[in-house]
Amino acid sequence: ENKPKILVLGAGYAGMMTTRRLSQQLNPEEADITLVNKHNYHYITTWLHQVAAGTAEPNSSRVMISDVIDTKRVQLHYDSVVEIKKDEQRVILENGELSYDYLVISLGFETATFGIPGIKEHALKIENIDSSRYIREHIEFQFARYSSGVDKNEDNLNILVGGAGFTGIEFVGELAKRVPELCKKYNIDREKVRIINVEAAPTILPGFDEDLVEYGKKSLEDRGVEFRIGAKIQECTEKGFVIGDDREEINAGTVVWTGGVQASPIVSEAGFDIVKGKVTVEDDLRAPGHDNIFIIGDCSWVMDKENDRPYPANAQSAIQEADTCAANLQALLHDEPLQSFIFDYKGTVASLGGSDAMGTIFDDKKLFGMKAKAMKNIIDDRYLYLVGGPKLILKKGKVRFF
Ligand code: FAD
Repeated sequence: ENKPKILVLGAGYAGMMTTRRLSQQLNPEEADITLVNKHNYHYITTWLHQVAAGTAEPNSSRVMISDVIDTKRVQLHYDSVVEIKKDEQRVILENGELSYDYLVISLGFETATFGIPGIKEHALKIENIDSSRYIREHIEFQFARYSSGVDKNEDNLNILVGGAGFTGIEFVGELAKRVPELCKKYNIDREKVRIINVEAAPTILPGFDEDLVEYGKKSLEDRGVEFRIGAKIQECTEKGFVIGDDREEINAGTVVWTGGVQASPIVSEAGFDIVKGKVTVEDDLRAPGHDNIFIIGDCSWVMDKENDRPYPANAQSAIQEADTCAANLQALLHDEPLQSFIFDYKGTVASLGGSDAMGTIFDDKKLFGMKAKAMKNIIDDRYLYLVGGPKLILKKGKVRFF
């Protein structure tokens, strides 16, 4: 049989939604669809800060892929991609290899350290379920060591977070909720535990509306988060961060870096041109010079021609790119013209822990507190609906109907 083979790498937002759309849009006679992912589950990356803080169970943030992908239509390979040999149209996996006619690269991000010495070796990262669960266990271990008297160094109760972007802010928000719970559990005075966020930029959440930034900062400070803004991390050591020109040392038992992301290393190793950590793709989401390769989600930049800068790389854009990618694959198979990706910005809401949140929706309408949190829950559930239908909302949904 000579059916075209479509191979999707990575089952994150971008890969899952592309696969779902393809399986809905293409007849089985038109093409074979194969999805490769490291695990047999899809995790909801935007919830990982909760897993890392210990305010959500790992299982609540993942979905079995075979529960939401039609296994009669799509071949699933639970394996790790090791190398993309684009000249040979082959992909090497840890336990085998696959060939393709059309490739979708949606392997997501890895942490960017911007060359700060020691970050790679000493800081923990919120990258996937396993690394997030490790942070949760690590924090609790520090509390257990201290309360049992095994470790008498109070500094080790401190939690130091590098980066006040979306992930860093949402994470300290969850910590503000989690730390008092841990203090109670281990009978430790709350005053003894510091949650410190360090950011080199002059503000938290660079790029966010000023009112929102102010609201978020105050809300977090009121709940015991300390900020060191405009403080450059010079180095990360086993003990914590060295910051600023005077090389002040801040010590902590838990150090988490959330400062930046770049494309999976598989992408640069495959020989694609990398600019600022990612591949800048064509308007139709294909890799420049490669008519049969799409790169979407956190692996690529898509240019917003009107404003001469890339669209934000987030879950919202990854989901929308998946629609365009699936439509363009269909167009290629049908010999029809491809469409350009246009981002439909629906707003951004950041949770601040517990029932607090803030953000903008639609035409920059600002939301704060419980209202914003309710909107965040709706956004989360909308995604569950897209990826798994109403069944998944009932199973994992955040909006409470009664
Ligand atoms: P990912 O979701 O990272 O998925 C990549 C997939 O590829 C994973 O399943 C992984 O297991 C798999 N994979 C990776 N390497 C391999 C390999 N070698 N072999 C096989 N499989 C592999 N965005 C928003 O829009 N709103 C938010 O509120 C928001 N909050 C966030 C909060 C946190 C804590 C974080 C970390 C991010 C947040 N983001 C948010 C950003 C958003 O999560 C990412 O932009 C989005 O996950 C990108 O989707 P993706 O499909 O490209 O990659």
